[in-house]
Amino acid sequence: MTYLSTDNVENHFHDVVIIGSGGAGMRCALQLADAGHRVAIVTKVLPTRSHTVAAQGGINASLGNVLSDHWHWHMYDTVKGSDYLGDQDAIEYMCRAAPRIVRELEHQGVTFSRLENGTIYQRAFGGQSREFGEGGQALRTCAAADRTGHAILHTLYQQNLRAGTHFYQEFFALDLITDQDGCHGVMAWDIANGTYHLFQAKAVILATGGAGRVFKTTTNAHICTGDGGALVLDAGLPVEDMEFFQFHPTGIADIGPLITEGVRGEGGYLLNAEGERFMERYAPTAKDLASRDVVSRAIALEIRAGRGCGPNKDYVLLKLDHLGEELIMKRLPNIHELALRFAGVDCTKEPIPVQPTMHYTMGGIPTNYHTEVVYTDGDDTEKVCGGLYAIGEAACVSVHGANRLGGNSLLEIVVFGHACGERVNAFLKQRRYHPPLDKDCWKKAVARVEKWFHSTDREDGPRVSDVRKRMQTIMQDHFSVYRTEDVMREGVEQIEAVAKELKQARMDDACRLFNTELVEALELENLMGLARVTAAGALARTESRGAHARDDYPDRDDQLWQKHTLAKIGESGVELDYKPVRTQPMTVASFPPKKRVY
Ligand SMILES: Cc1cc2nc3c(=O)[nH]c(=O)nc-3n(C[C@H](O)[C@H](O)[C@H](O)COP(=O)(O)OP(=O)(O)OC[C@H]3O[C@@H](n4cnc5c(N)ncnc54)[C@H](O)[C@@H]3O)c2cc1C
Repeated sequence: MTYLSTDNVENHFHDVVIIGSGGAGMRCALQLADAGHRVAIVTKVLPTRSHTVAAQGGINASLGNVLSDHWHWHMYDTVKGSDYLGDQDAIEYMCRAAPRIVRELEHQGVTFSRLENGTIYQRAFGGQSREFGEGGQALRTCAAADRTGHAILHTLYQQNLRAGTHFYQEFFALDLITDQDGCHGVMAWDIANGTYHLFQAKAVILATGGAGRVFKTTTNAHICTGDGGALVLDAGLPVEDMEFFQFHPTGIADIGPLITEGVRGEGGYLLNAEGERFMERYAPTAKDLASRDVVSRAIALEIRAGRGCGPNKDYVLLKLDHLGEELIMKRLPNIHELALRFAGVDCTKEPIPVQPTMHYTMGGIPTNYHTEVVYTDGDDTEKVCGGLYAIGEAACVSVHGANRLGGNSLLEIVVFGHACGERVNAFLKQRRYHPPLDKDCWKKAVARVEKWFHSTDREDGPRVSDVRKRMQTIMQDHFSVYRTEDVMREGVEQIEAVAKELKQARMDDACRLFNTELVEALELENLMGLARVTAAGALARTESRGAHARDDYPDRDDQLWQKHTLAKIGESGVELDYKPVRTQPMTVASFPPKKRVY
């Protein structure tokens, strides 16, 4: 079958098209559908299978239900947690909005756990303090047992069904339709029946989630392949701060499923092979509840020093049996099940083997706090790409900077999902009609897919799955918790080589119906671009900051490096540029950089 005319491409007209049905996409869709717009969500899986459903521990808001709290302390913790790379205007916006947006979720139907007095249950999470770090540990993370993401995603899905949002599920977004006036739509492919679809929209919102599958061992679902960032790179726009990937301290050893920070929030702690609570040495005050970059590095150092557990001495133990079976089954039932299933451990009786595992993508599509996609054109003035927005883990707004605090991501997706809805609602008053499109605008996307069908005629060339494994192993071996010049330089060369290999790769399955090999090929193309910019950005950054820890440059260098990386892919390879961090909040005084101690 060849596609020669638009007769073979089905046309759809919507006011707004949102790519992604995670918490970010669905919160935004709800806002716009309730405002009366014709909203479409295009998603490559069934809506409630988005990765948000896997979120466990909770969502931060300074409700002060257990101990007194204030959004300004939340803001301080987030700026400090970001290792001073977060944009302080966006952080202020998020922390101020948090209590209102979380209560709104409660009213929409999220089944939060409750305190005795009926208010939302809140637990301790890493990097949380009171009175700007002076007043001890805050209890800021609102939880629905250890299934908070599940509760939020299902509630938002139901609300969207009520509001009349149109769902195009198992549709894969292939290409953004852009011109000098910005973005006007997206081309997508129907995975189930192999047909092509052109979605014309006055505004397009990217809510495609993280890119965890760049690495071999990750807590992320197989669908977390950074497709939104790749679409933006392909449109000639930059991505931001991609060298910052968070390693969560407690993935189940060897395989990666997440054991929530909520376990330590409830009183669990880490032990090395000598039975020592080693976090007391690394973070005397916060101990096991220091921020994630600090705890992951401590575990890596313990393992390096030969104090890891097991036959290969490559993991540590997370002890929680002392919390008692009743509390575990009430507050952490999912953890009990995960540990049993994946590690064969009954955590009410024995500790869980854990090691740092790739968890969260701090970088992404650059936006301002109104969620508009921004770029610079050689000079220092930031420009907005009209009609294009990005939210959630796919975006880099940047509230997490170099290191995200636990519980701040579920918050980010709903706060900026809401903010985006408001902004687009105003924008639609100016852009009232669908502009005419170039008659060939669909061709690039079709060619992208058809070339894979042509590859099935070839007998030579590597298989897609082999190329993916190689890429993930290179990233894991060369860009993990600790990084050095030589190892990264070698990693950059190997990634560039494997990217070339992908151009020669072939697919075996020529079927047009539900061709999962083709989905994987498209996802690998997306991952590859992001791996290339991650590698180049990491090698260039000669300092240690947040999740980017270098043996050869152990200190943070604010003079040179308190700036965001912008990366594009041009004809001759990855092109790096930088832009300043927004250190000025909206209304309060700036938090200047200081040494981070926990
Ligand atoms: C195991 C785990 C536990 C976590 N626990 C917590 C927690 O307790 N607290 C917290 O704050 N954060 C937590 N996080 C992080 C948080 O869950 C995520 O950052 C957040 O849910 C991301 O939401 P999102 O809406 O941006 O994207 P996602 O929920 O990942 O959704 C992405 C959507 O994009 C769609 N999509 C992607 N590419 C395409 C394409 N090409 N075409 C069409 N559709 C596409 C997908 O189908 C999906 O619907 C956790 C993450 C993990 C992995």
